[in-house]
Amino acid sequence: MQRRTQRKIKNLFIFLFVFAFIGLLIVSDSSHSFALFPKAQLGNSQTNPPCCLDTTKPENSLSLSPTPHSPLPTPKPHPLPTKLSQWQDKGNNGDYFTDIQATKFGYLIWSKFPVKIYIETPNLNTNLAETWVKAVVQTVQEWNEYLPLQIISTPHQADIKIIRKVPPLQGNPPRARSALATYELYIQDNFLRHKFTILLSPSQSGKFLQAASRHELGHALGIWGHSSNPNDALYFSQVANPPQISPRDINTLKRIYQQSTSLGWKLG
Ligand SMILES: [Zn+2]
Repeated sequence: MQRRTQRKIKNLFIFLFVFAFIGLLIVSDSSHSFALFPKAQLGNSQTNPPCCLDTTKPENSLSLSPTPHSPLPTPKPHPLPTKLSQWQDKGNNGDYFTDIQATKFGYLIWSKFPVKIYIETPNLNTNLAETWVKAVVQTVQEWNEYLPLQIISTPHQADIKIIRKVPPLQGNPPRARSALATYELYIQDNFLRHKFTILLSPSQSGKFLQAASRHELGHALGIWGHSSNPNDALYFSQVANPPQISPRDINTLKRIYQQSTSLGWKLG
């Protein structure tokens, strides 16, 4: 009798153990899929805005080291680049200059031309890598109509680096972005300079890759803000039919390049 009871208890323990083990498997599997779910959404770039601009605290991306001994340059305007000075918008389309942020060093204006751009060849099979680079190169050529740009093959000499990489998640709850532009400052020969890094998510291809690249290049060339008009390349969100660079984008760029900045000037 006692032995039967003992066997019953033993069986009960085995049953409970197996039950708990199966339960544990189900829980761990569902938490695994749950963790994967946001990642899967990353691939769906249509549901995520393309941006990009770290609007919360752009100054956070500054890294000026070592700390300069001399005072930072007094902000002054640079001569307007020739192509921009020749730009005339006959349609009087206006601009969105009031939505552009100046940093505490002034506007993010380039003064040494051509601006050197490095496009990293992604680690893909040759055809895909070529297609990707070609799409990005085209957007560089589009902006080259307004500011002199040059594609170079050495990353350490670049003013702007373009890389095919998922931007880090941002905010709380964390949100995916399909592209990101960040800048940092440095001192070279006693001049205050800046450089940009653009990350383009691998989830983008075709016209959306070009739209993201065009948009981020706009930021890197000085449009540190967004348009509220979906017909502008610097519109804050992704649209089904991404626009080309608009007259309003260039009107805005031209106004930015007429402003003062400490960038590109000698330390005092
Ligand atoms: Zn943006």
